[in-house]
Amino acid sequence: MILIKNCKPHDLLLDGAVLRKAGKGAEKAEQTVDAKGLVAVPGLVDMHVHFREPGREDKETIATGAAAAIAGGFTSVAVMANSGRVCDDAVGVVYVQAKSREAGGANVFAVGAVTKGLKGEELAELGKMSDAGAVAFSDDGMAITNSELMRRALEYSKMFRKPILAHCEDTALTKNFVMNEGPVSAKLGLRGYPNAAEAAMAARDCYLAALTGGHVHICHVSAKETVDVVRRAKKQGIRVTAEAAPHHLLLTDQTLVNYESKYKMNPPLRTQADVEALIEGVVDGTIDAIASDHAPHTSEEKEQELAACPNGIIGLETTLGVILSIKGIPFERAIDAMTAAPARILGLKGKGTLEEGADADVTLIDPKASWTVDPAAFKSKGRCTPYEKMKLTGRAAHVFVGGRQCS
Ligand SMILES: [Zn+2]
Ligand SMILES: [Zn+2]
Repeated sequence: MILIKNCKPHDLLLDGAVLRKAGKGAEKAEQTVDAKGLVAVPGLVDMHVHFREPGREDKETIATGAAAAIAGGFTSVAVMANSGRVCDDAVGVVYVQAKSREAGGANVFAVGAVTKGLKGEELAELGKMSDAGAVAFSDDGMAITNSELMRRALEYSKMFRKPILAHCEDTALTKNFVMNEGPVSAKLGLRGYPNAAEAAMAARDCYLAALTGGHVHICHVSAKETVDVVRRAKKQGIRVTAEAAPHHLLLTDQTLVNYESKYKMNPPLRTQADVEALIEGVVDGTIDAIASDHAPHTSEEKEQELAACPNGIIGLETTLGVILSIKGIPFERAIDAMTAAPARILGLKGKGTLEEGADADVTLIDPKASWTVDPAAFKSKGRCTPYEKMKLTGRAAHVFVGGRQCS
């Protein structure tokens, strides 16, 4: 039993793997953590990360990813299916769970692929993956361009009450893109990815969710038009939820003027108008969740010239600090977007809440901690971050998973 005292909003008792309000019985605690000046929040949940195991353990393993999660304050993460060996069957799901238990860091939940091998041709065995414990389905990294296949995926996933996490990209419009399409890409002479390519697919997916009654979750919203699409669909009662990534809430395509690969990701960084629309979407709840889209690559790969280097940056260890440093997102909404909202979307019972009887996953945040991002200190194997040397305010001070102190 661990007693956490002197924190806001109130003291907590971790009774094995179960959370209790610290009332009677606190005197029985074997360990006391003095959390003066800290804020207790439910263990943070990141519903969109990429660990590369099995297959590309040189980039990240489930163990290093789970350790990076803890370092960033995250007690639960959902790992996308596009590892070296695609997670498109029950074996893949069970593998992730076994490696997660072995690692003993954050809880790592598996997202199963929608289509076999992420090829976009044939549905994977969603039912078997669901039975094995997959929390959602996604071909993330690849867009599902075949609308008939997306329709059937939504129909099936509805039977298992699990969402389809949609990577919305009309790939006919984004071929060989390097960055956002706009004045900056024109000036730099780089191929662009227009906002419309994201928003049009998001609109299609919302209509297909309406048609099927399935739940579509729009991944990494980056364009202001996509925020509009989701807002309108929600008003119509369509089962749609959405997430935004920290980099899209802070950075713009102007950062690419020096052709640096740490600003290259999919979807790309957009404009200030998009950033503002995204923040507004987070504040009014159109965008339910904040997720890192943590995507580690080797330094050799990321150090290639901009057009050749792969998309993606890491984020687990900087998300909390970046989000708390963004003015305009209230603390409570920021925490909700990283706890209750993703837990609800993924149906993670006992997660994302500090209610009596919840899982004893707790993050103690020091909201005033000022720190400088140093990639050399990351637990992740990835080093590519746009926030290197950036000063952030707010950090996870202590993290507990299932009643165990992990940091
Ligand atoms: Zn994606
Ligand atoms: Zn992703």
